[in-house]
Amino acid sequence: MNIVELAGVTKEYPGVVALRGVDLVIARGEMAAIVGPSGSGKSTLLHMIGTLDRPTGGSVTVAGHEVSGLGDRELSALRARHIGFVFQQFHLAAGVSALDNVADGLLYGGTGLRERRERARAALERVGLGERTGHRPHELSGGEQQRVAVARAVVGEPDLLLADEPTGNLDSGAGAGVLALLDELNRAGTTVAIITHDPEVAARAPRRVLVRDGQIVADGRTREDGR
Ligand code: ADP
Ligand code: MG
Repeated sequence: MNIVELAGVTKEYPGVVALRGVDLVIARGEMAAIVGPSGSGKSTLLHMIGTLDRPTGGSVTVAGHEVSGLGDRELSALRARHIGFVFQQFHLAAGVSALDNVADGLLYGGTGLRERRERARAALERVGLGERTGHRPHELSGGEQQRVAVARAVVGEPDLLLADEPTGNLDSGAGAGVLALLDELNRAGTTVAIITHDPEVAARAPRRVLVRDGQIVADGRTREDGR
């Protein structure tokens, strides 16, 4: 079953055509790397997949819901239920503990604070930060901050995890740790799509989607055992 289906998706900004007719299907359980030069439309594509923005043309279907048929509130609900996001800049709240940064990932679901914190603690343990729950972002390394961001993205157990250059602000060691974590989440069943312009990262992914000038110009598996 497919978690994402894009058909003929175009996206225009004033004076710029960022996507020009993209067809893309992502099956549940996949791990896909989205690669391509800067300005080719990767982030725009991720915004379409993540329903953060609506296409100018074509259709976007996530978890069986066609986006154009949904209002903004329904879209927020769809994202909250099905999608987790990780960005290059970690986007953690300053001065707020790791635990509460992660617990805030559950705000939409109407869960009580106590349960949110329990689940946040479990998510932080899952990313190897069970000993850092009381630390605030400035008391954590970049790699640790990004792992907190990953914990926040997955605390609601989304079907789909979308990451836009998640290692872009990290040194190679910390980046490798975050990538290993994404691999592990994928093996445990989460579908993962990761934007990267790091060829090494791309080479590790079972599926590589190459974007150039607003179009997908190649889409293939890089390993025999591609999941
Ligand atoms: P990438 O992530 O591959 O670097 P983007 O998807 O960010 O590429 O951008 C694709 C094109 O769309 C670029 O020409 C960029 O300048 C343009 N673009 C992206 N977002 C906006 C926006 N909000 N408003 C106007 N133009 C945009
Ligand atoms: Mg980008």
